[in-house]
Amino acid sequence: MEHFHDDVIRQVAERDVRFIRLWFCDIAGTLKSIAISPADLETAFTEGIGIDGSTIEGLTRSYESDMILRPDPGTFEVLAWRGDSDASARMMCDVLTPDGEPAASDPRRVLKEALSSAEQQGLELYAHPEIEFYLFQEPYEPGSQLRPIDNAGYFDHVHRGQGQDFRRTAIQNLEAMNIQVEFSHHENGPGQNEIDLRYADALTTADNIVTLRTVVKEVALSMGQVATFMPKPMIDQPGSGMHTHLSLFQGGKNAFHEPGAEYGLSRMGRQFIAGLLKHAPEYCAVTNQWVNSYKRLWGAQEAPSYVCWGHNNRSALVRVPFHKPTKGTSSRVEFRGTDSATNPYLAFAVLLAAGMAGIEGKYELPEGAEDAVWELTENERRSMGIEPLPTDLFRALESFESSELMARTLGEQVFEFFLRDKRNEWHRYREQVTEYELASTFGRI
Ligand code: GLN
Ligand code: MG
Ligand code: MG
Ligand code: MG
Repeated sequence: MEHFHDDVIRQVAERDVRFIRLWFCDIAGTLKSIAISPADLETAFTEGIGIDGSTIEGLTRSYESDMILRPDPGTFEVLAWRGDSDASARMMCDVLTPDGEPAASDPRRVLKEALSSAEQQGLELYAHPEIEFYLFQEPYEPGSQLRPIDNAGYFDHVHRGQGQDFRRTAIQNLEAMNIQVEFSHHENGPGQNEIDLRYADALTTADNIVTLRTVVKEVALSMGQVATFMPKPMIDQPGSGMHTHLSLFQGGKNAFHEPGAEYGLSRMGRQFIAGLLKHAPEYCAVTNQWVNSYKRLWGAQEAPSYVCWGHNNRSALVRVPFHKPTKGTSSRVEFRGTDSATNPYLAFAVLLAAGMAGIEGKYELPEGAEDAVWELTENERRSMGIEPLPTDLFRALESFESSELMARTLGEQVFEFFLRDKRNEWHRYREQVTEYELASTFGRI
């Protein structure tokens, strides 16, 4: 650890860093930041930096507002969009209680704990997210018309397109911050883009997702655009998903890979999928945490609505992607439920817990579904045992509330705060009288 500290201190001096931002997330996954000066770096590493966490959603209970941030030196990166002189840098932090214990409410702790319980079985989670988002013209105020930056579609090459310039700059910024991008392209919706990060361990990936959201927003603003990761900003256009490819490694080898098996997928991989399917209603409130998330899930356009898995099936919740025998051991599971507005720490923790439950309980994987599930009749789906995902946040919270697995994985404090906070969101939503209701009902009776 010591040499990491020294390394950070050396980089700060060499790269003219004037501010070091200490980053952490609240339970919704919103990024929080407090800047310190290089002079306070030593203390930050040894004692941590005290903050008043009382107004941060879910972070503290009323009687414990003082918290400590302890930066993780391995996450030190200079913020690329801030430029090279008088630079700013960031470090992701763990949140501690005043007596130095990991704070129950820190989402990063929740993920670390889920990862360490898998590590006790010798298993390590790796993830590769496909992050979708929209770019709109500035300015945008809630209630004003959304103006996508282009009218292009899936994989379109837009000549002199603003989207292309945007992706180029965003990716340069990400790579300068040591975040490796695998692909980027225009997505289906007008102004919709996707950036896929390279496989990395789940904790690094969650840190990278939070950073990517900030980079994307900063770069968009610098180009007169505004970016949103909201799950479904427009009624008749696709939502923004965050499909995530998952695999477990054991002793440096992909434990989901089995040469010669169907789709190259091992028994452990099948059990992991079975766990993801069985517990889907319970964790859905976490992977899809907003009222708006369910408009994506039920708005078709390649978002999953039913709990099933398949190979070539882009309407399934879980897909086992094509596995090239020549590509060796890249067998993995693509989870398609998550949207781009999830808290990645909590989402990875609950998905891992569901998959591990499948492995530990030796769950049997049901038959795969190769048809577009949307096109089947209700009866056909029922006879195939295919259940719908929760249709709204209210129903998702009902399954979440009665889940032993969720309470255990998130810990009592996060579990209870999440439930209370999300129930409030639902109640506020339920009180609304929408444009739709006025248009469809006002003049009718
Ligand atoms: N936007 C779709 C979703 O919400 C995914 C589209 C795609 O990547 N094929 O899940
Ligand atoms: Mg993709
Ligand atoms: Mg996509
Ligand atoms: Mg995908």
